[in-house]
Amino acid sequence: MGRIILHGGAGSWRDSPIRLKSMEAVKNCALHGKTVLEKTNNAVEAVVEAVKCMEDSGYLNAGVGSVLDLAGGRSLDAGLMSSTGLIGAVAAVRRLRNPILLAKYVAENTPHIILAGESADELGLMIGIPPLPPPPRHVYERYMEGVRKILRGEVKDEYYKRIASLIERIKYLREAVSNPFTLGDTVGAVAVDGNGVLAAATSTGGVSLKLPGRVGDTPIPGAGFYSGVHTACSATGYGEVIIREMPCRRLDELVEKGLSLEEAATMIIKEVTRRHGPGNMGFIAVDRNGGFTVKYNTEAMLVSYVEEEGNVVVLDKP
Ligand code: ASP
Repeated sequence: MGRIILHGGAGSWRDSPIRLKSMEAVKNCALHGKTVLEKTNNAVEAVVEAVKCMEDSGYLNAGVGSVLDLAGGRSLDAGLMSSTGLIGAVAAVRRLRNPILLAKYVAENTPHIILAGESADELGLMIGIPPLPPPPRHVYERYMEGVRKILRGEVKDEYYKRIASLIERIKYLREAVSNPFTLGDTVGAVAVDGNGVLAAATSTGGVSLKLPGRVGDTPIPGAGFYSGVHTACSATGYGEVIIREMPCRRLDELVEKGLSLEEAATMIIKEVTRRHGPGNMGFIAVDRNGGFTVKYNTEAMLVSYVEEEGNVVVLDKP
């Protein structure tokens, strides 16, 4: 009973061993999420376990595999919501391997919705969330490559041109990138269980080479994640576009007004693309009947789910 679908981020792919590892990671986590859903018949447990599995993989931009910011640091965001009213998120944590576990704790044990920064880290460690290990080598390599491109003026994307111009103006950034000590693809899961409960979870290291302190869409309900009583949705892409558009909240509203999941999702991605151009976001969503959709305006989006007959599907251009 039920349905779960995972994403490993929207963006562009280069053919590399990391791409294959990422696909393998999402596939294994889809199987894991499906097993948890079958065992527990609980959409919340299933999406949290699926996202935790992707945070642990080291190859996706969340948890262990999180990208580095402009100064070579990391800050992680995550959010969780269910159709039963559970909602929690964490922003800008730096020391936790599994931010999604703290988002769940916030949802279940506090009167708050979003916890941020150092105190969130302290709480996470206190409740036994494992510490974040140092970044894997491929994360450093990607960082170095990005910084070199920025310093040589080779970035084409408007988003990164604006970041490059900040390096000139902000002294501590200039120092960080000119002396690098070594110097996006968020993850998410949506599910519906046999009782018709919907849940969505998203986790990220944010956009690569972001300004230290930047928080994206991932911990913002309605933007990077949302579950109403009609749909559960997890988004990925440039957080600054996603926060302006609130695609996950809009999706639930449009379905409530009578649109099918597919019609609503198509309308949202078309509108986002009309307003902001292509190449900036994607999302996955499920409805109460187990219907699901994947929409993106980027070159590719990594998605995985298990079919009813038990075959695992993993697609990078669904
Ligand atoms: N949406 C994430 C952020 O802006 C990044 C991503 O999806 O890759 O923080």
